[in-house]
Amino acid sequence: MKSLPFIDLKAPYLELKDEIDEAVQRVLHSGWYILGPEVEAFEAEFAAYCGVPHAIGVGNGLDALQLALLAMDVGPGDEVIVPSNTYIATWLAVSHCGATPVAVEPDPLTHNIDAARIEVAITGKTKVILPVHLYGQPADMDAILAVAKRHGLRVLEDAAQAQGARYRGTRIGGHGDAVAWSFYPGKNLGALGDAGAVTTTDPALDTRLRMLRNYGSRTKYINEVHGYNSRLDPLQAAVLRVKLKHLDTWNARRLQLADAYRAGLAGSPVAVPGVLPLAQPVWHQFVIQSDRRDALQNALKGKGIETLIHYPLPPHKQQCYADMHLAPDNFPIASGLADRVLSLPIGPHMSSGDVEVVVSAIQDITPNL
Ligand SMILES: *Cc1c(COP(=O)(O)O)cnc(C)c1O
Repeated sequence: MKSLPFIDLKAPYLELKDEIDEAVQRVLHSGWYILGPEVEAFEAEFAAYCGVPHAIGVGNGLDALQLALLAMDVGPGDEVIVPSNTYIATWLAVSHCGATPVAVEPDPLTHNIDAARIEVAITGKTKVILPVHLYGQPADMDAILAVAKRHGLRVLEDAAQAQGARYRGTRIGGHGDAVAWSFYPGKNLGALGDAGAVTTTDPALDTRLRMLRNYGSRTKYINEVHGYNSRLDPLQAAVLRVKLKHLDTWNARRLQLADAYRAGLAGSPVAVPGVLPLAQPVWHQFVIQSDRRDALQNALKGKGIETLIHYPLPPHKQQCYADMHLAPDNFPIASGLADRVLSLPIGPHMSSGDVEVVVSAIQDITPNL
């Protein structure tokens, strides 16, 4: 039987090989290897795609988050509201600024931060709300922006998994004060190495981020703030420019596959993700829930179907946060999800036949679990 890998990172390159090879050659022959025209062109194209005036290319998604927080003056003594259910990067960005991540539990149906639980977590030290558009589904932005406004807080979105997703019909990129992006190879828009960006509608944040990513400098050898070195690589910018043109097609394919999973798994004992009425997800992951998750994953593996768990251990249970003395049972919803979630294979290079194979495998397995 044919085996189905979780993801095929090489397929998008092979599909666009001629265009990508040409873009890489263009950079190699340009003699311009730091920032410059290729990075500026990608920034302009990505900003236009997101419908916002500013995009700032940085080294990776974690830096995008951290630099955006620093641009918002987040530092020691400040608190930032984060989801309890997220990838560790969201929390680490806050910690690296010297601030404290304050976790809020998710809605177990959408996996995203439960906006109704945010207000009670706000204190006099809270500066920013940092929702994550987890698995490619926009968080409940209207409710989050409303609570931020009531309390005079800024909103930074972690959109590492949500390139092209829409909320209220508008692409993610400018709902909050700033939006952090990762172009890690496996993301919906992925580079051939590390890459990231921040988008914003705020010209002051744009100016600060351009300095922070480049040694605190806007004019060479004039250093205004304690900056970093986190610049988007022109080679990656050139690759991203090619792939950006195909993102909508690839996301449409993901949506078809997600719909096929949803239809195929209706009535089965596994739970499919819930979607908010105003959210149009791009299905970075298609995450089901099962009480017998480990047995299901093993049985699928036995049938040649590779699945992953995003994520097996929530941030509050990680060793790196032992110093916060968060009790393991502090965030039961995030912990419960970590025990139940299973990411099925999804990606633009899968066929609907592949989805049928996974669906019938799950239908065969579940009665015997
Ligand atoms: C991938 C990811 C990041 C970090 O991106 P890197 O480019 O790997 O640094 C941050 N947040 C979320 C939710 C992610 O999925």
